[in-house]
Amino acid sequence: METTDAFTGLECIDCGATFDAEEGSHRCGECGGILDPRYDYGAVDLDRETLASRPFDSMWRYEELLPFARESAVTMDEGATPLVECPKLADELGVERVVFKDEGRNPTGTFKDRGQTVAMTAAVQHGATDVALASAGNAGQAAAAYAGRADIDSHVFLPARAGFTNKAMVNVHGGDMTVVGGRITDAGAAYADAMAEHDDWYSVKTFETPYRHEGKKTMFYEIAEQLEWETPDAIVYPTGGGVGLVGMHKAAKELRELGLIDELPALYAAQATGCQPIVEAFESGSEVHEAVEHPDTICGGIEIPDPGASPWILEALRESGGGAVATDDEEILEAAIAVAKGEGLEMAPTCAAAASGAWELGERGEFEGDETVVILNTGTGNKDADVLRSHLMGKGI
Ligand SMILES: *Cc1c(COP(=O)(O)O)cnc(C)c1O
Ligand SMILES: [Zn+2]
Repeated sequence: METTDAFTGLECIDCGATFDAEEGSHRCGECGGILDPRYDYGAVDLDRETLASRPFDSMWRYEELLPFARESAVTMDEGATPLVECPKLADELGVERVVFKDEGRNPTGTFKDRGQTVAMTAAVQHGATDVALASAGNAGQAAAAYAGRADIDSHVFLPARAGFTNKAMVNVHGGDMTVVGGRITDAGAAYADAMAEHDDWYSVKTFETPYRHEGKKTMFYEIAEQLEWETPDAIVYPTGGGVGLVGMHKAAKELRELGLIDELPALYAAQATGCQPIVEAFESGSEVHEAVEHPDTICGGIEIPDPGASPWILEALRESGGGAVATDDEEILEAAIAVAKGEGLEMAPTCAAAASGAWELGERGEFEGDETVVILNTGTGNKDADVLRSHLMGKGI
């Protein structure tokens, strides 16, 4: 296996067992916990000047802090997305600056590409012929795309309510798609049955592979560098499984360890009231969520009723001094439309939970006025143009 110099292997976040990256490929062999890639930061030679001298062309420009080198990556130059100023939104939120990290500019239109580029690189390194996952939609589309590029067969399990673009593009990329009646939990059960039957399938599912949160951590490297190494006061993130959130928290701690930033950004999980297990756990002071029995929100990407990594997510929110906020579907759709009208930026309903959540935080008096707030636009609005348009229809427009 070809890995980068500082990458030392995988460590279980529950029991602390360590695994060689060659041996450990998914969950902990001792306790079944989530594995996290680890590094010897003393061996990472990276400073602001070196980074500034590199073109801002791909998330793989941070390869020293990734498990694999850029030259061995299954990549389509994902990442390196812009940070767009939103002055009107800043006025409305009552803060100095609002910036949008626009992940809609990725190859398949969402930040899921950052996770799949690393997970698919690991799959190639492990000699996989087939990859599989259950997904609400965007991760399935991204996996089919990256698997195609790597000449690997993909098996994608989606719930019936996944968006049309996701389903269409899994087919277009040549993936083997199973659409399961019901919600993400039902798609997950069908995936688990199929995995049990095919012991040669390699999982690229959320937190099954250790490499998706590892890819998503690059979002914070970019934010820090784009803000000239000034840590933003708040990052509001539309949270489902929390992959990006724990990834960004890890990235912030790494940059602090390397002396590139001084402070950790306060991370806020934004959810929809129809499925808000993280918000409920955060507010009640719990260390773990309780599964939502009847999830129901138009925000498919964050309709995750049973997020298995909730202790890790909650720890990131608390350790960073952030919080959690939920707003309802109506407010979220209104936020997507307000942002599209006022700033020109296109947000999918799932992502607009972050804008709506930021508004709500502003109304609650969470901000004092001098903050820089980053809103993570995790995916492009045009995948769900129909949902946004029909919301207008409901208002007689
Ligand atoms: C998957 C997804 C999310 C949620 O991501 P997590 O990191 O798992 O919480 C948010 N927005 C979009 C567009 C997604 O596809
Ligand atoms: Zn373990």
